[in-house]
Amino acid sequence: MIADVIGAAVEAESPGYIRKTFRNLDEILALKSVPELLSGEWEVGRFTDDTQMTICVAEWLASDANLDGKSLVERFCRAYEPWRHYGPGVRLILESFPKARERWTDLATAMFPQGSYGNGSAMRVGPVGLFFHNDLPGLIEAARTSSVTTHSHYLAVQGATLQAAAVAIATRAGFDANQFLNTLTVALSHFEVRGENTSVYRTALGRIAQGISQGVSPLKMSALLGNGIKAQEAVPMAIYCFLANRDSFEKSVEAAVFLGGDTDTIASMTGSISGAALGEPGIPERWLRRITETIYTPEKVRQIAHQLHSVGQSRKFKAK
Ligand SMILES: [Mg+2]
Repeated sequence: MIADVIGAAVEAESPGYIRKTFRNLDEILALKSVPELLSGEWEVGRFTDDTQMTICVAEWLASDANLDGKSLVERFCRAYEPWRHYGPGVRLILESFPKARERWTDLATAMFPQGSYGNGSAMRVGPVGLFFHNDLPGLIEAARTSSVTTHSHYLAVQGATLQAAAVAIATRAGFDANQFLNTLTVALSHFEVRGENTSVYRTALGRIAQGISQGVSPLKMSALLGNGIKAQEAVPMAIYCFLANRDSFEKSVEAAVFLGGDTDTIASMTGSISGAALGEPGIPERWLRRITETIYTPEKVRQIAHQLHSVGQSRKFKAK
């Protein structure tokens, strides 16, 4: 949530502009508002669609025992506030759903016939990683179910799965970058068993391993991995921002925001992984105090996260 709040203030800006204008993330959070892309002002302190949908996924995991996709879309629809910078594909799906409940599975291909490979399902999947942190098959199934509701392209499903797996691995102590990346490769092999092509993410994981071993900066890596709205760019980039700054939540989120591009989403995904690794002490209180939300406050989101974690430890849900 906090990384989304920070990233939203500089969404779609260039890295050059962000670096020239702000020395650090505190200076971004010191802004009261920024001009909106189309009209009006964006209040700094609000979260965007990334956090709104992540909360839906968390509540779905914590309370829907069957984990079916339709009930997740219903949650997305109830929560939907268009001003939170939803992408056009998800807007169309959520606005059509009330009139197309019986054909809801067709909605994911309404705008993109092959299904969307945007990063919209990876950006909200963090809670799946927390919930299934000890259960890779369960994680893979739930990541797929949650993704295909809006993003059914195989690159979106694989990207969401890798992001969830990154969060799950991050909850374990004492891993090095190579072990981390090897476990992500194991997650990919589950797609290969199903006959899916995983070369896009295999190539990206190889580049990440090489970049980390050579100490390449996230900004330099973004020329190779990309930092846009495609899942296959944003997910590897978020993993890189985390792995390059494993010991610091602040530095990993700063690296993601200072890339420019899809800042709110890459930062939220980086923050999900880093938060899972470092826990609450890593997240600066002074940043959380800048959040201006009244319903989903940091305290409320903290409660949901703890509930999710304890439900996940005590029950074995079977994902459908
Ligand atoms: Mg967003």
